[in-house]
Amino acid sequence: MADSAAGQTDVLVVGAGPVGLTLAIDLGRRGVRCTLIEQKAAPEFLPKMERCNARTMEIFRRMGLAERVRAGGLPADVPMDVYIILAMNEPPLVRLPYPSVAEARAQIAACTDGSMPLEPYQLISQYTIEPLLKAEAESLPNVTVRYGCEFVSLSQDDDGAVATVHDAGSDRQIRARYIVGCDGGSSAVRKQLGIQLRGEGNLLRLHQALFHCPTLYDRIPIGQGPGRGRHYHVADNQATFLIMQDSTRHWTLHAIVEQPEDMAAQFERTVGVPVDYEMLYVGAWKQNLLLADRYRSGRVFLAGDSAHLVIPTGGLGMNTGVGDAVDLSWKLHATLQGWGGPNLLHSYEIERRQVGDRNVGASRYASQGRRKWRARYCPDIRDATPAGEATRDALIRTANIEQRKTNEMIGAELGYRYVGSPIVVDEPGGPEHLFREYVPTTWPGARLPHVWLGDRTPLHDRIGDGYTLLRLRRSSADSSGLEDAMRAAGAPFQVLTIEDPAPRDVYGYDLIMVRPDLHVVWRGNAAPDDPQQLAALVTGH
Ligand SMILES: Cc1cc2nc3c(=O)[nH]c(=O)nc-3n(C[C@H](O)[C@H](O)[C@H](O)COP(=O)(O)OP(=O)(O)OC[C@H]3O[C@@H](n4cnc5c(N)ncnc54)[C@H](O)[C@@H]3O)c2cc1C
Repeated sequence: MADSAAGQTDVLVVGAGPVGLTLAIDLGRRGVRCTLIEQKAAPEFLPKMERCNARTMEIFRRMGLAERVRAGGLPADVPMDVYIILAMNEPPLVRLPYPSVAEARAQIAACTDGSMPLEPYQLISQYTIEPLLKAEAESLPNVTVRYGCEFVSLSQDDDGAVATVHDAGSDRQIRARYIVGCDGGSSAVRKQLGIQLRGEGNLLRLHQALFHCPTLYDRIPIGQGPGRGRHYHVADNQATFLIMQDSTRHWTLHAIVEQPEDMAAQFERTVGVPVDYEMLYVGAWKQNLLLADRYRSGRVFLAGDSAHLVIPTGGLGMNTGVGDAVDLSWKLHATLQGWGGPNLLHSYEIERRQVGDRNVGASRYASQGRRKWRARYCPDIRDATPAGEATRDALIRTANIEQRKTNEMIGAELGYRYVGSPIVVDEPGGPEHLFREYVPTTWPGARLPHVWLGDRTPLHDRIGDGYTLLRLRRSSADSSGLEDAMRAAGAPFQVLTIEDPAPRDVYGYDLIMVRPDLHVVWRGNAAPDDPQQLAALVTGH
């Protein structure tokens, strides 16, 4: 703390959005001294993301945060269905049923083939999760959290980087070994580095409004209208879309309108019956599909929206950023501890930029689906005429297929694999990455699939924060050479012998080595030929 007050730290994290907060917490948990600065005076009650996907919840579980996030978020039994409607008091055009958290938990409990995540998703609004993560970051002795402190510029040399910040009315400098820009879409850190975002910008401009409407949820279904759910897409020519927030008392509405104040009438039209409400906020936002050319320049890294911007369709914005944070965190820790070789930090851009690229693609795919069914809209959609019926039928048929693209992204969420990473043993080939489907695999670079052990505990929970060699099915391979090599490399390392047959059945190999973030680095049925070389490769040398 004293060092950081004097302007010295190991890692300076710029921006306390969900990504910067997650990074600071993970660094702090690992014992890394870090400073998190945020230009805002305090977290704001503004709507943005509302869904942590299953992979993010697995990550939060490993950080000891999953239960707190769930306690702060939407209750487990609230329905999560998605509707396409004309208005909430009219019969729904399409209902896409999705399991509540409680139902998803039951499905996961019954799954034995590794095809499901350990944790279901969780709906929690950005304005709820940010204060929760802030409190956690502030509780960690290694983490200094400073709101009201704006990053202005940086310089770097061989030993570190210096940020100039505007803090409490004056400029001061913070020297750090590394800086991470988690400062969002208009990242000043990225601009300082001269890194460009490329892709499709300003695709569509919408307004978003936040409503406090305490009675709406209790009144659903309204008349002949849809049942309870989380998303209500209105079949119109204004891209209107109503989202239930985590309290069930707050709702956000997105629509193309002329004036911000038009959002109130748009909300009333969508609900269809009189309700008491207050419009707490309204603002404009633009859809982008953009990816940074680079994720690193010297000692400075980009993570989250500073490196990739997606259309919220598919919920891959913050969730991708949380993946960036936990990929970078253990590599910074290892490098600062001295056992991590240069390839660890070098691998960050290689691993995470390909995921950013894929998720920009997944988001494009989902939003094109949404555009397709919206293109079927005609003003005669309510008419009791053959033409009106034809409009309705065409829209329903298209939406039934195309809207699913947004809500069924399990492959994008769980199935990413770090192809061509210098710290993962290369096995030529490998499964294709699919947005919609997740096929469990231990192909090096992939996330270790979740498997229950015989006592109903998850194998993931038995794996610690360092590297782990899993010895499965009473493997008789002599892994002592690898164990010695990993210990000699100075890396945190454990050997976990699992007699239970389930993991071997799913994983397909007797020996699996995973790294601190649960991605597979090597697998085999016999001990590696050259354990020293393997240990050197996976620790970045
Ligand atoms: C309507 C909508 C719905 C969404 N829904 C989802 C969803 O369901 N799931 C999902 O995963 N994503 C969703 N997203 C995307 C998600 O909100 C973003 O991807 C996420 O906020 C990115 O987090 P971040 O921490 O990288 O950046 P941000 O949340 O933008 O945080 C950046 C922080 O940096 C601070 N900052 C900026 N400049 C400076 C500076 N110079 N000095 C200091 N601090 C600075 C900012 O004040 C801010 O607090 C949605 C987005 C929108 C607009």
